[in-house]
Amino acid sequence: MAFDILYRCHGAAREVTGSCHHIECNGRNVLIDCGLFQGGADAERANAEPFAFDPACIHALLLTHAHLDHCGRLPLLVRQGFRGRIHATSATIDLARIVLLDAAGLQEEDARRAQRRGRRRGQEDAQPLFTLDDVFRTMDYFSPVAYEKCFDLTPGIRARFLDAGHILGSASILLEILGGERKVDILFSGDLGNPGHPLLRNAKPAPPSDYVVMETTYGDRAHRPQEKSIAEFYDAISTTLRREGNVIIPTFALERAQEVLYQIKRGRADGHLPPRMSVFLDSPMAISATDIFRRHPECFGSEFLASLRDEDPFGMPGLHFTRDVADSMAINQIAGGAVILAGSGMCTGGRVRHHLKHNLWNEKNGVIFVGYAAEGTLARRIIDGAREVRIFDEPIHVRSSIWTINGFSAHADQHALLDWLGTSPRRQVLLVHGEYARGMRGMADQLLERGIPHYLPAKGQAIRLT
Ligand SMILES: [Zn+2]
Ligand SMILES: [Zn+2]
Repeated sequence: MAFDILYRCHGAAREVTGSCHHIECNGRNVLIDCGLFQGGADAERANAEPFAFDPACIHALLLTHAHLDHCGRLPLLVRQGFRGRIHATSATIDLARIVLLDAAGLQEEDARRAQRRGRRRGQEDAQPLFTLDDVFRTMDYFSPVAYEKCFDLTPGIRARFLDAGHILGSASILLEILGGERKVDILFSGDLGNPGHPLLRNAKPAPPSDYVVMETTYGDRAHRPQEKSIAEFYDAISTTLRREGNVIIPTFALERAQEVLYQIKRGRADGHLPPRMSVFLDSPMAISATDIFRRHPECFGSEFLASLRDEDPFGMPGLHFTRDVADSMAINQIAGGAVILAGSGMCTGGRVRHHLKHNLWNEKNGVIFVGYAAEGTLARRIIDGAREVRIFDEPIHVRSSIWTINGFSAHADQHALLDWLGTSPRRQVLLVHGEYARGMRGMADQLLERGIPHYLPAKGQAIRLT
């Protein structure tokens, strides 16, 4: 039997977002992830473009984790004819449901706003990328898998999920492709976690494989040690509260919010933070994600698991969960002394934009960025030192203190990526999910030094794996 494997990277090729990997072998098609492109108008256009393949011809999809840049185009895939199974860990399925529902809700809302504006100009109605109905339909295709269990995907292709330590339920995926006497292993790193995460296990080191498709988000950088970052985080909060300002923390709802809550709780218990403070988790999705966290102890690190025996790891006095819009808007009336966690982490949508609008202009306030910000996003513009930003079409001065604390990162840094990859011989390491001039080049230089064959696939380029 002829044995021909083609790999194509349809997203996160020489960029960070839009993860979508395609393996084609003897008429069988498998996708790994189907994510949204994020950051600006170019990304929006890319999301609306037709897929570079026929969704009806994809036999199965493997989802590494529930971040939108990995699962965000699944509803489009289903709407356009995909009828296979979507394999993911059960924590990922639970999280993907709320992530996709949230995204659909925001898109419907944005479309309604654009429609109102467009009609006044006589334009055709804007359509949301996908709707809540699309998401409900998509959820029917999910099928749960356990870590470490090898299963048949289609005849001749087997898969195994390994803990990636990135967010709850996240996985690296090992594909075994069998053709007669021969076997080719392809390992997809997914997004790899930062070792030493307070809630999750560390990523499982890469097993031997012929090929590795590897993320390089922080391939050129070392994170600050986590203890230093936490100290800096406590200092940023204390400094702002001392001058009676508000602290805004744009957070990714899925894991960062829980990690930040846990660290705030610890900081108060250890005396690093004032014992009395008001903390708002102002994100329905983060509140739901916190519930989902509690339901998936099979994903917890051992220390965190032990801490669960006696108390709620996230609960503390003065903590408010604000699901309702009215409660969220009431926070805008607070002149100082509040710590507000709200999404989205990159400030591209969600309630955090309201809090930034109300707080960014005043120098007594503080904004603490605790996550990655892609090029072209509002978070990135603020981090890069913009003096003025536009929020809801209004120019807002940036006068508050801005902190960027990268020790919270859910991504492995250069050292951790190399550690994960290890020294097993590989035919080739394909580098993806990084900014070309930064993470990717940084990792490529490291692999070159170590004599590890590697390649940076271009979007859509067909690469033959032998
Ligand atoms: Zn991720
Ligand atoms: Zn990602």
